[in-house]
Amino acid sequence: MRDHSIPAVLFNEDSKAPHRECRICQKNLMDGELYAIQKVFKNYPDQEAQALFDFALCKNCMEQARAELSKESRQRIDQFMMEGLENLEASGEEAFDRWEQHRCTLSGTYLQESSEFQMMAVCQGETLVDSPVCLSAEMLEAIQELLSPESREELNRFSENNFGWPPELKKALVDGDIVLL
Ligand SMILES: [Zn+2]
Repeated sequence: MRDHSIPAVLFNEDSKAPHRECRICQKNLMDGELYAIQKVFKNYPDQEAQALFDFALCKNCMEQARAELSKESRQRIDQFMMEGLENLEASGEEAFDRWEQHRCTLSGTYLQESSEFQMMAVCQGETLVDSPVCLSAEMLEAIQELLSPESREELNRFSENNFGWPPELKKALVDGDIVLL
């Protein structure tokens, strides 16, 4: 049996405990509904990877953000992820294996060899619903390239609209430092 408790690497950087509330709407995340943790790390020479962005979003806030992308972009990203996961399955490895080996879920690259990487985990209460997904810089760039010009404009507009996103997260999203997974 896999341990499905939330690993410490996905804890809230400030409290060193599991995220308790949605970063955007402050909804209590322990109410049994699904939510997602997103965390962006950067590697520096001779140091442990540093968390640049770290937040949890309730299902509604995730969906609202994704709805800012054009349908076309969303479909391309979903397809990219799906194909990647199919390739993973064909390789005979499992997402959880790669996660435990600190490797990119899709490419298998070791995360320590990537300039940065992003983790995403869907959770319910204090447990993981599935293996966390982790993407290397190369995969994150590939996803950025799938965004249509239309979607880029929508993300720009997103930063002007007030969805209650903290300014640093809006900026990171528009600049492509965070990918909506
Ligand atoms: Zn929320």
